[in-house]
Amino acid sequence: MNIVFVASEGVPFAKTGGLADVAGALPRAVAELGHKASLFIPCYRKVWEAGQDIVGTGITLKVPVGSTTLLGHVHESRLPDSDVPVYLIDHPHYFDREGLYGHPGHDFEDNCERFVFFQRAVLEAVVALGLKPDVIHCNDWQTGLIPVYLQTLYKNRSGLVDVGTLLTIHNLAYQGLFWHWDMPITGLDWGLFSHHALEFHGKLSFMKAGLVFADLLTTVSPTYAREIQTQQQGAGLDGLLRERSADLRGIVNGIDEKIWCPMHETMLAARYDVNSVVEGKTACKAWLQAHAGLPVRPEVPLFAQIGRLVDQKGWDLLAQVAEGFLNQDVQLVVLGTGDPRYHDLLRSLHERHPGKVWAYLGFSDVLAHQIEAGADVFLMPSLFEPCGLNQLYSLAHGTVPVVHATGGLVDTVVDLTPKTLAEGRATGFAFRESTPAALWRTLDRVLNTWRDQEVWRNLVRAGMSEDWTWHRSAGKYVELYQEVQRRRRPHLAQSLTPHPVLS
Ligand code: ADP
Repeated sequence: MNIVFVASEGVPFAKTGGLADVAGALPRAVAELGHKASLFIPCYRKVWEAGQDIVGTGITLKVPVGSTTLLGHVHESRLPDSDVPVYLIDHPHYFDREGLYGHPGHDFEDNCERFVFFQRAVLEAVVALGLKPDVIHCNDWQTGLIPVYLQTLYKNRSGLVDVGTLLTIHNLAYQGLFWHWDMPITGLDWGLFSHHALEFHGKLSFMKAGLVFADLLTTVSPTYAREIQTQQQGAGLDGLLRERSADLRGIVNGIDEKIWCPMHETMLAARYDVNSVVEGKTACKAWLQAHAGLPVRPEVPLFAQIGRLVDQKGWDLLAQVAEGFLNQDVQLVVLGTGDPRYHDLLRSLHERHPGKVWAYLGFSDVLAHQIEAGADVFLMPSLFEPCGLNQLYSLAHGTVPVVHATGGLVDTVVDLTPKTLAEGRATGFAFRESTPAALWRTLDRVLNTWRDQEVWRNLVRAGMSEDWTWHRSAGKYVELYQEVQRRRRPHLAQSLTPHPVLS
């Protein structure tokens, strides 16, 4: 098969979160299964700074955006260690900026335009490059209009006629909502501004567009696939997702073992595998403690967190237990950026608990690897978590995850109980209720278990022995691409009537 992936970020070119890891790894895993794969992402300023080889294709695209036509260029690179082409959609006015989606704390005001341009440019480029894909694999709201375009403005376009679509929801909380007067920017008919299609509580929703029009839908874990069909976690789209439940699957993300494997990571103080984890982690932990200016003490449990400093990641809970927790003999290392409230919290914890807390309030890929290898425990008390990658990286590094039992965390971490321990299945600690008391009790369990290093080593070894690489999941995507081809949905656009208020 021939699969075109479209995403708003991808490793090693541009990254803000887990989506980039997936976009950089899944196309290669699909190609390794014998299929043709390519990836499209915007050519942000970060892409030029990423140090990858980039060449021009000589292709200039004419891309309609609203009432004007803009020119776009297509550059080409490769995913590392592969022949998978990466096509970079360039229009400096939209993408030559410091951030990908906005400045800290607010989105770019022209994000609707930027991602309309990107999506239409991708379709124009697929034609211009003669790619002839079987399936276009869309990811999150930034690509949600592609399935609509394929069934409307581009439905008779040579090179796009029989193309199927699959949309993966990486996080339903981000929906690409814009005011209704942005509708003309899309070039789509006002008739599509209906609650059966693109309209969501009076706004234009790119995510909803994809959920309605894509042939098949996936999300990044089976538990999250069930959760988003409930009112509590459906972010207002649960009704639609229930309607499409037969077309919605959950597939757990994988790890790119070429990037996230303690045997291969050159930035570590020591490289190790499951047989040398004790010595390897001892060296990596000592390095991390020294780097963070913390006392180099092997016996103290070193807790870590890496990620966006936002409510979703459980920072509200952590804030409530932090003071009491840090009064014990523990250390905490945090790498992240996000909500200024949590920046302040970490600065103040650092001041009030000298020698126990270190936070790097920024983005550092290298440090993320060094923390995964050097820490003993990884904290992931997320309120919700579609899949979560850091707990998988932690398992691979012998760093024991502590998780709230939600979404992909349920599907990937086995809570330590006498039974799971005896069966050799326990890999971490999980708590059900999202309350400070439940987190506190779990941290207590962690500290008690830490005192029994034999049990601790069993946890570490069980986690490291699991295979969370893309080899587990890539084949499932290929089955879905085949299913997309088998059952194309009828063209919805023809049956839609104009919105009563706006027609
Ligand atoms: P999400 O996609 O919701 O942000 P995931 O756990 O799925 O969360 O993936 C987050 C990815 O982003 C991981 O690869 C993590 O290491 C990385 N990451 C997040 N924040 C930072 C940061 N400040 N520095 C380096 N890497 C980060």
